[in-house]
Formats: sequence, C-alpha cells, structure tokens
Amino acid sequence: MSFSSILGQDKTIKRLRALLESGRVPPAMIFHGAPGTGKFLAAVEFAKTLNCSHAAHREKPPAPPAPDPDDLFAAPAPAPAPEQEQEPVKLHTDPSDPCGACLSCLQAASGAHPDIRVVDTAFQAALLDEAESANLKIDTMRELTRWAQQKPMLSAWKIFIVRDAEALMPQAQNALLKTLEEPPPGTLVILTVSKKTSLLETILSRSCVIEFGRLPKAALKTILEARGAGPDEAASLAGLAGGSLEKAAEAGAFLKRVSALRPGDQARIFKFSSGLPRDSHKARDEVKTLLDLLLAKTRGAWRAAEGTAKTRLTALLRRTLDLRRMADRNVSYQLLLETALLESERAGIKIEDLVKPE
Ligand SMILES: [Zn+2]
Repeated sequence: MSFSSILGQDKTIKRLRALLESGRVPPAMIFHGAPGTGKFLAAVEFAKTLNCSHAAHREKPPAPPAPDPDDLFAAPAPAPAPEQEQEPVKLHTDPSDPCGACLSCLQAASGAHPDIRVVDTAFQAALLDEAESANLKIDTMRELTRWAQQKPMLSAWKIFIVRDAEALMPQAQNALLKTLEEPPPGTLVILTVSKKTSLLETILSRSCVIEFGRLPKAALKTILEARGAGPDEAASLAGLAGGSLEKAAEAGAFLKRVSALRPGDQARIFKFSSGLPRDSHKARDEVKTLLDLLLAKTRGAWRAAEGTAKTRLTALLRRTLDLRRMADRNVSYQLLLETALLESERAGIKIEDLVKPE
C-alpha cells in the first residue's frame, strides 16, 4: 500500500505529497469528502509516510523545544523542521511514499503502531469499556489530549486519526481544541469528515482542510475489480455508486438481495425490507442509499415522461424526497423503506429497476 495505490484522487494526493516533501506538515488537518472516497486510507498512508524510518523526514524529527506549560500564547509548533534544514534524502523512488518494509511501516500496516492511533467509535467502546455509541465523547478526547502530551514511543511523529469526526459531540470538539491550539511538538491530528458543517468553526479555522472529490467511475471500476468483482458487476456497481466506494459496497449488497427475489412475488418488497441490517445506523445508511437510488431512477423516468405519467412521477418524487428527509430522524427504517418501495411500484418503478444503471 502506498499513495500510488489510492486511485481517483490524483490532485489531492499530489497536494499531500507536496506537504510531505516540503517538511511543512500542519499540526491539524481535516480530510473532507463524501463517504467512501479514500479519506481514511489517505490519512493512514500520510501517517505511515511521516513515520517511515526510511522516509526523507527521518533525519529531521520535529525539534522538541522544552514546552513551557505556562505559556498559553506560544505559537503552535509549525512543522517538524524548518525548510532550510531539509536535505533531499532519496531512499525510495518517490520520497513521499512509505517504504512498506521498516518496523514502523509494518506496525502501521497491521494497525499496531504505538504512535499512530485511530480514534473512532469502536476504539472508544474498547477504551471506555462500554457498548459502541454513535458519538465520540469528551472523555475520549481528553484521553487523546493526554496521549498527545506524551513523547512518541518509536517514531518522530505522534499521529491521531479521528475517523468520521462528524461523530464528535460539541463538548468533545472543545476538548480536542486544546490540542489543536497548542499542539505538542511532533503531534499531528487528522480528522476525516464527510460533513464539514458538523465541526465547530474554531476547529475548522485551526486546521488545514484537504478536499476529497467523488471518485471517477473508471477508478471505482478498477478498485472494485481489484477487490474481486467481475468486469460487468464492477461496471454496474460503479454506475450506481455516485463516486463513493461505500455506496458501491451497499449497491453490491442490494444487487445480491434483489437478484434473490422472485419476480411477481407479492411479498417480495416485505422480504427485501426485512433484510435490513439490525444495527440501526447501518440500516439508516442503507435506506438512505436506497432512497437515493430510487430518487435517481424516478428523476430519469420523470424526464422522459409526459402527461399524466409526468404528474404521477412528480408526486412520487416529492413523496420520496419527504421520505428521504425522514430517514435522518429516529424512525422505523424498515417501514420507511417499505412505504417508499410500495409507492414507487404503484407509480411504475419496480425494486428490480433500482439496480439497473441508467
Ligand atoms: Zn517504512
């Protein structure tokens, strides 16, 4: 794995490489983009490269000036090393790729690097010894702040990747803010987020925002094929995915479930809806993706329709949009899905149509 293997984000990866090569890595970064566009993967590669023992940065760990805990107005540590101290040390073909073979790279690849921590709701559940919650809490960010004060164990950089940072509650964001305002030398916090508006302005203004666009269909197809999909299936899923690998995976699950339905079976919509995941967050995401597919399909039919058919499809579009909004509330997702599918079928759009690309 390296930056080169992250497909469909050429401009973004180029920017990340430039940051690594300049030696001016900001202490707080936000990787922003739709779900399934490679943000987390890129964050892990970025962390891996920074800490790779063979990387160009190896000779230049961040100079640790003795931190003065009373100096609240000290400027944030800007970078591991000033530019003039940077020497071109080329040990790989591309200095901004991790070597993949040193102890640091191997530990990072296995998720066991002592100085690279992924903070998400699953990690929080283990940390706080409780069931997985939808939110990231203040206690977790306090722990992060505490770790950030400790020296790295193995590498030059101590890196925290807060995954899906929209899960951060406002108090938790405030707790994290302290680390972003006065980052201990050699500390990097990367937040991956699909909705920037879920972050406080104070967090946004202190972070370097890196944008991840939707993945082009060709890149999606290549990734899906590399993951074992046949060429036709990969093309079909790439067409349904709206530029998101996560949506492609969800569409793949639909394809399987829809192809298992018997045409003409009166109960097939109920059978389909009852196959939603038990986990309510996953069920909600799946219903939202399905409603998005339904909306795309209905819009397509609406554009081609005339007369009474157009009127009927206009009503269906409005209704499906209403249901799509309801999916963000605490409702029965199964009921919501059944309603949407039954109403669509009455208007002439069948569940089987949803998995056919335009
Ligand atoms: Zn390495």
